[in-house]
Amino acid sequence: MRYLVLSDLHSNREALDAVLDDSRGEYDLIVCCGDLAGYGPDPNAVIDWARANLHAVVRGNHDRGCAGTENLEWFNPVARQASIWTMSQLSPVNLEYLRSLPAGPLKVEDFQLIHGSPMDEDEYLLSVADARNVFAYLETDVTFFGHTHLQGGYAWLGGRYETIGRMEFFQNERWQRLDPDGAWLINPGSVGQPRDGDERAAFALYDSGAREVLYRRVAYDHDATRRKIERAGLPDVLGLRLAAGR
Ligand code: ZN
Repeated sequence: MRYLVLSDLHSNREALDAVLDDSRGEYDLIVCCGDLAGYGPDPNAVIDWARANLHAVVRGNHDRGCAGTENLEWFNPVARQASIWTMSQLSPVNLEYLRSLPAGPLKVEDFQLIHGSPMDEDEYLLSVADARNVFAYLETDVTFFGHTHLQGGYAWLGGRYETIGRMEFFQNERWQRLDPDGAWLINPGSVGQPRDGDERAAFALYDSGAREVLYRRVAYDHDATRRKIERAGLPDVLGLRLAAGR
């Protein structure tokens, strides 16, 4: 089966549309590692699309924040303000959908989806030192995660732990075969708010039969998203950071 793997969409409709245009015809099912909502200006458009199109999805911390099921004291002021704004905008059916999203890990075919780490959906796996502690808790040898907004991930291969870094800025895609003797923690990157210094929307394509991953980047009109963020009265920094990819 061929999957389009998404994470951290963050109510960014322009980025989502660019990803869907770029990947059209290359997958059978769409899965998501969480954070449909928060930060961005189009929560209803993104969640309407998610309800109709996602085969499997786990919740992210911002989905909980925007669903009103999280104590927002844990959020920084910008994230808190965006969550409160999002909650005020959501249609009843989309609010209910966010509330109903499951916590990971969620098994799909021969892999699983998590938002942060297998033990804690809010934990950031930012380095190979973070990741090496969690490999023992993975129930499948391929796991997709999000939360850090950094495309790449970690591998356990031949008794060693390795970091899978992001591609170069001049590349649009990078291919990787997932050795069945290893274990793989793969982050497709963030569709709607990349933070690895590359402002292009990030995603991955996974072919479970061939055990191949394609990491992909696609440019989108982040200036249009920034203008919507300003018009909505959301904090300016949320628009400005899209152009920087940080
Ligand atoms: Zn996120």
